[in-house]
Amino acid sequence: MSGGVVSGGGVDVGVGGRAGVSVVAGAGTASPVRHIRRAPRIDAETHVSVAIVGAGACGLTTALMLHDAGVDCVLLERDAVPAGSTALSSGFVPAPGTRAQRAQGIDDDSAERFLTDIQAKAHGRAAAELARAYAGAVGPAVDALEARHGIEWIVLDDFLYPGHSRHRMHALAPKSGAALMAALLAAVESAGIPVVTRAEVDSLWMDDADRALGIGYRRPDGREELLGCDVLVLACNGFGGNAGMVRSLLPEMAHAAFGGHVGNDGSAILWGEALGARLRDLGGYQGHGSWVTPQGALMSWAVMMEGGVQINREGRRFHDETLGYSEAAVHVLAQPGGVAWNVFDEPLLALARGFPDFREAEAAGALRRCEGVAELAASIGCDPATLQATLDSMGSAAPASDGRVFRRALESPYFAVKVTGALFHTQGGLDVAGDMRVLRADGSAFANLLAAGGAAGGVSGDAVWGYLSGNGLLSAVAGGYLAARTAAAFIESAKENP
Ligand SMILES: Cc1cc2nc3c(=O)[nH]c(=O)nc-3n(C[C@H](O)[C@H](O)[C@H](O)COP(=O)(O)OP(=O)(O)OC[C@H]3O[C@@H](n4cnc5c(N)ncnc54)[C@H](O)[C@@H]3O)c2cc1C
Repeated sequence: MSGGVVSGGGVDVGVGGRAGVSVVAGAGTASPVRHIRRAPRIDAETHVSVAIVGAGACGLTTALMLHDAGVDCVLLERDAVPAGSTALSSGFVPAPGTRAQRAQGIDDDSAERFLTDIQAKAHGRAAAELARAYAGAVGPAVDALEARHGIEWIVLDDFLYPGHSRHRMHALAPKSGAALMAALLAAVESAGIPVVTRAEVDSLWMDDADRALGIGYRRPDGREELLGCDVLVLACNGFGGNAGMVRSLLPEMAHAAFGGHVGNDGSAILWGEALGARLRDLGGYQGHGSWVTPQGALMSWAVMMEGGVQINREGRRFHDETLGYSEAAVHVLAQPGGVAWNVFDEPLLALARGFPDFREAEAAGALRRCEGVAELAASIGCDPATLQATLDSMGSAAPASDGRVFRRALESPYFAVKVTGALFHTQGGLDVAGDMRVLRADGSAFANLLAAGGAAGGVSGDAVWGYLSGNGLLSAVAGGYLAARTAAAFIESAKENP
């Protein structure tokens, strides 16, 4: 697609940058420079009904749903090949009441039940309107992707993720985010939706009435091109790839590994801050306490839920693993050396090997097999007697001091994988209404500026422990579905009232 020449007509409000004074970027940090250009119009050669910034699960879902509604759109993606955090993820999407659930005999789930689980995990602090909207939209979104775009879901029904009261985690057969991205991209390609790659969006064009007019994006050679639009959707995820913002907003994760996409640099928040948009839940994020080190891979929490434990260098357990992998990141980082060992036995090894990430970590040498407690203690570097006592306590019918109840003790041979705590993605972002319109500080909505997926504030409250597994792709898929519906209604009403 060819873009226009910069008209030079806009009044520029720059944000971020090394000398930025932004409260979110923090003074003196190297944030990308993002602009708001104020102008009565944008002189772009190309105009599209809906422009979508970011081609991860959220942007691609938005585009597919717009296509189904007969609305033209264009995706702008900074990378040469769209991947985002979505391709790095496990690709598990929680959704109630779907066709795939019913096909597997799970017929007692509902949006209401899912909403209860979301709020229980967040101790009631998840954004109420948004959580309700997502819980209601994600089932229809998952079904629509399947019925109209050939995304074939299976439901993971051999274990429950922490906080979920029903089996509702949907995945593609390979159980990977890379497979999900490939399927979404194939659907976008077969729908003929344009994806402009190597297009880093740096400017939002707005008129004085706060209506989005279009965007400016940079090409690798530094040229700026313009694209006009009727509706603008920000689907460019959060700030996990912006070290300065992580340091200032999530200090406990400042030195943690980041497992997500480094191109997610907080663009949406930087624009939002300059626009006077309301930001929400900036302290919320998805951590993970099972980031295999030094290999840098995810080991599924399924192993913990089914009886595995985390043991520190002193040979002790240090938290109730079944409460959640997100908060486990902080617990693991607080242990000596910031590491722990996931310890499990043969039946759990079989479960772990069902996940491609684990198989890769194993192939990279992460798995240690130990015939007995002495060998396991030597592997961990802890006192064998302390470790023996820790393992023995799992055989007791009484709950552990942290409240965890074990169904059985682990049996030798034991297996151990060294892990640390990592940041996976941020949950804070632009505050949005249930229809995904961005809200101003006073609570009023921008007419045609939407944000979804990780660009919007999530439904995990403002702390690491509020993250219910799957809240990330929930926001991306349900948010994309809702954003498309709002954008299509806006285009329709503009046609009726030109
Ligand atoms: C290891 C790992 C495992 C995970 N597993 C799960 C899971 O199983 N289930 C779950 O729900 N969540 C999971 N998550 C979280 C999940 O990956 C994210 O919440 C989700 O992918 C967000 O989707 P998105 O479309 O909002 O963002 P992304 O997929 O990150 O897409 C955003 C896109 O925007 C582009 N972009 C950013 N800024 C600009 C710009 N200025 N101009 C142009 N393009 C831009 C980026 O390049 C990127 O392609 C996991 C995360 C990690 C790291």
